[in-house]
Amino acid sequence: MSERPVVTRFAPSPTGYLHIGGARTALFNWLYARHCGGKFLLRIEDTDRARSTPEATEAILKGLTWLGLDWDGEAVSQFERADRHAEVAREMLARGAAYKCFSTQDEIEAFREAARAKNESTLFRSPWRDVPEADHPDAPFAIRVKAPREGQTVIRDRVQGDVTIRNDQLDDMIVLRSDGTPVYMLAVVVDDHDMGVTHVIRGDDHLNNAARQMLVYDAMGWEVPVWAHIPLIHGEDGKKLSKRHGALGVEEWAAEGWPASAMRNYLARLGWSHGDDEFFTDAQAIQWFDLDGIRQAPARFDTKKLANLSGQH
Ligand code: GLU
Repeated sequence: MSERPVVTRFAPSPTGYLHIGGARTALFNWLYARHCGGKFLLRIEDTDRARSTPEATEAILKGLTWLGLDWDGEAVSQFERADRHAEVAREMLARGAAYKCFSTQDEIEAFREAARAKNESTLFRSPWRDVPEADHPDAPFAIRVKAPREGQTVIRDRVQGDVTIRNDQLDDMIVLRSDGTPVYMLAVVVDDHDMGVTHVIRGDDHLNNAARQMLVYDAMGWEVPVWAHIPLIHGEDGKKLSKRHGALGVEEWAAEGWPASAMRNYLARLGWSHGDDEFFTDAQAIQWFDLDGIRQAPARFDTKKLANLSGQH
């Protein structure tokens, strides 16, 4: 892997307030960039037009600002980059790493139905994968990436270790829909590449996406970033965090009077450790933060610890 200057990013979907999981992801990315003397970028993943709102974007920016997580440069809107995403899909086609698929929704459904009846995998296998371009009729098409059918894909993750996926479990993912719009999975990779992102630090609910995203990196011959998928945060009872456990928006913490410095200290300790240290300053956190200290087990949200730290900040 080449020695590129470290660039991390926080890439929230603006569908709600900045909750504790998102704030911790942002903090880890910010700490790692500052630790390495690199850049921390912000990308608003507003491709889902039905669920994205300007109010949510506003709340996220405000939350990050309150937490003191300053990003480098302007926040990038993913939606505004749709032309670039489509351009890359066409480039994949030109390289022979993707193909035009003319199968209709009904045909895909019929394929799945037949596979189910035979108890076979319902992963769609397009009949257009190996048909030369000249044979294609003049009809709407989606662009699909040619996924390898043999062997395996290994996600070398700095937190999870090597995660291996059998390639026969990958489908030829659509990268450009027949209406010309790019899919989210393509947009993420193109944006990360264009923004020079070297380290993707995010929740492990995105781990499965990494295998599909690697298809795009490979198709384009781009360098794959370092992956670090961090375990989700659980409540004190070990269950997935919900509002009942204090999964409040950052603005609510601010309104409740928690000091931002205590919150940073607290969030840094959620899933990352440095010896037995509980209390630290920002300067210490930046000095100490590394990916090796991120734990594999889910972190637990604990309001008593937060209250304790608040007394010290
Ligand atoms: N937009 C995604 C989310 O809010 C994050 C995607 C990513 O970090 O790659 O969960």
